[in-house]
Amino acid sequence: MNYTNSLTQQISFNNQKYFVKRDDLLHKDFSGNKARKFYYFLKNDFAKIKKVISFGSAQSNAMYSLSVLCKTKGWEFDYYVDHIASFLKENPVGNYKYALENDMNIVEAEIPKSFKEDELFISEGGAIFEASFGIEILANEIKSWAEKHQIKNLKVFLPSGTGTTALYLQKFLPFEVLTCACVGDEEYLKKQFLALEKNNFPTILKKEKKYHFGKLYKEFYEIHNELIKQTNIEFDLLYDSLGWLCFEKYVENFDKKDEYEFLYIHQGGLLGNISMKERYKHKFDK
Ligand SMILES: *Cc1c(COP(=O)(O)O)cnc(C)c1O
Repeated sequence: MNYTNSLTQQISFNNQKYFVKRDDLLHKDFSGNKARKFYYFLKNDFAKIKKVISFGSAQSNAMYSLSVLCKTKGWEFDYYVDHIASFLKENPVGNYKYALENDMNIVEAEIPKSFKEDELFISEGGAIFEASFGIEILANEIKSWAEKHQIKNLKVFLPSGTGTTALYLQKFLPFEVLTCACVGDEEYLKKQFLALEKNNFPTILKKEKKYHFGKLYKEFYEIHNELIKQTNIEFDLLYDSLGWLCFEKYVENFDKKDEYEFLYIHQGGLLGNISMKERYKHKFDK
């Protein structure tokens, strides 16, 4: 099965040309940057491992991708959460629903303090060294694509949560990688980078205003709908709406705009969009 080599397509958005790397289309069940980050575990043999343990939110994209990984590998999957909202328990949707269908054990408790030999612990959102394995492959795909099209000046953009994907892309790419902090502020993101690498960090673009992760913003919904209308591509509402707001502004104000090509990495997350869209529709479509 092929979990690599996503296509890159050209789009026009608000009269500006961009390329989009469609990692959302990598594979039906294992896509986006979580597929890249967990590729190492998919590809290698772990004879001793019987169970994966991780934690985070009950709606997370990483949780769903880990459930697919575990199902594929025949591993058990224990996922720790602080709390599951009662409406979600009663009406499972999106990542939560499909991860349960993949036999995830969801545990509302503290993460264990220690692990057994046959247990593999993966920290929240896949902010781990092993992620570099799959992200190097992503970087190589971008390099080959740029070479093939004789693109020498390229700016690559992707929005960050933990920042792991942007960080390793910058490590393996000869082009400048731009990102924005969707979870927390720039300081938080820099700390995340520092936990994994010493230097060569992506450039963090400034945000117009302070946004709280997971909250609903009218401008997020608007740019999301506008992207669908103009490009026929659905982007994620948690990261990509803010991502596009930041990247578009950057490109608009970039003084060498005509000498460069701009590549946006679509990192998937569309299962998570199901519940986000319900919330947005409820709030703004009246
Ligand atoms: C997880 C995720 C991100 C953030 O990735 P990091 O490597 O944690 O920065 C961005 N977009 C989507 C759609 C994601 O699922």
